[in-house]
Amino acid sequence: MAQIIKVLKGTKDILPQDVDMWQFVEEKAQKIFGAYGFKEIRTPIIEVTDLFSRGVGDTTDIVNKEMYTFEKSERSITLRPENTAGVVRSYIENGMARLSAPVKLWYKGPMFRYERPQAGRQRQFHQVGVEMFGIKQPAADAEVIMSAVDFLKSIGLNDLEVEINSLGCPKCRAEFKEKLKSVLRPYLNDLCEDCQNRYEKNPLRLLDCKVEDCQKIYSKPEIQKVIMSDFLCDECREHYTELKSYLDAMGVKYSENKLLVRGLDYYTRTVFEIKSNNLGSQNAVCGGGRYDGLVSQLGGEDTPAVGFAMGMERLISLLPEKNSKKLDGYIVSNNTQEAFKLAQELRNQGCSVEFDLANKKFTKQLEKASKVAQKALILGEDEISNGQVSVKNLETGEQIVVDRKNLKL
Ligand code: ATP
Ligand code: MG
Repeated sequence: MAQIIKVLKGTKDILPQDVDMWQFVEEKAQKIFGAYGFKEIRTPIIEVTDLFSRGVGDTTDIVNKEMYTFEKSERSITLRPENTAGVVRSYIENGMARLSAPVKLWYKGPMFRYERPQAGRQRQFHQVGVEMFGIKQPAADAEVIMSAVDFLKSIGLNDLEVEINSLGCPKCRAEFKEKLKSVLRPYLNDLCEDCQNRYEKNPLRLLDCKVEDCQKIYSKPEIQKVIMSDFLCDECREHYTELKSYLDAMGVKYSENKLLVRGLDYYTRTVFEIKSNNLGSQNAVCGGGRYDGLVSQLGGEDTPAVGFAMGMERLISLLPEKNSKKLDGYIVSNNTQEAFKLAQELRNQGCSVEFDLANKKFTKQLEKASKVAQKALILGEDEISNGQVSVKNLETGEQIVVDRKNLKL
């Protein structure tokens, strides 16, 4: 026998028994984000590598370690590791700046990151997310966060924790970065290699480090004092305060977390995460924030923007298992031609119907019906000659005879 070929490490099939859950989540996304006025956008899975090095940032783990990149016709191409950069590219390329603001887009689809596979971490995974362009006011941030919370509620996830923070603007953040660097300088040699590399390029990211020894250093009082200090300039503080006032007014529960810095380079002012206590160490289901500099960084007009991405595998792992949907009906008959005809009549009405294609015995067909369908539609010789169908409700066992032309499932 030929050798079996297996799925690549870190990737998974979404099997028929699980696909109902995925469709349920996708339908809710369309409904809830649609209710907020977001329109779906579908961008390509492959993009030029520069889009991510410039858009996601050279100092991020994604760009440094996690991208699937290959050469084709002397161009460097990358499988998208996230979709904000792609949506921004499309926004610019398609002149969406000419549309009246806000431009509100949502997406869903596979992303690719070369990470160590573990619970909650795959190499091909799926995200659903939204992006809103053109509004600098914090009402936009609030609406984006609310749409995330509403969507999660709509799929039955009510008890997740929303954390928010403000990273300030490039100006006030620059001062904060310098303060942080100077207080950390004496400990530089004791930090992990990643933190040592980030120290110059992206010192805020140090706070995000998961290494215990680093966290011990960051919890020292003199360093905590800097971290906890209010470094925001007046405008950024006002923006943040107003955002919180909207969330309060709308009853969105959140906590403030000064250590929340997010992994990506492009965030300005608002950042947020939504977490679950039931996910172990990979506990973030949603990450997002404001990225006012990204559109111009990628060659467009200066445009404020805010958005988020959620990991669909993590969401789905939090949902109770659903039984696969059963067929509306299974036709039980020894007359294949008549079964074909009845199946077509019902399918044309929008019902899901199957019948035996392999000349199985009547009793076998009935057994099959009770496994896969809600109703058995029995089409024996009598029923055929009378233009009738015996409909057996497989949950209650009740059976009635119905004229074929009146049959509704
Ligand atoms: P993490 O800290 O878990 O690596 P991240 O900051 O890299 O997260 P984002 O880029 O913000 O993640 O992506 C948003 C969401 O996508 C995450 O909150 C998570 O739910 C999901 N996600 C990210 N990477 C993966 C992955 N490799 N496998 C499955 N889901 C993922
Ligand atoms: Mg990551």
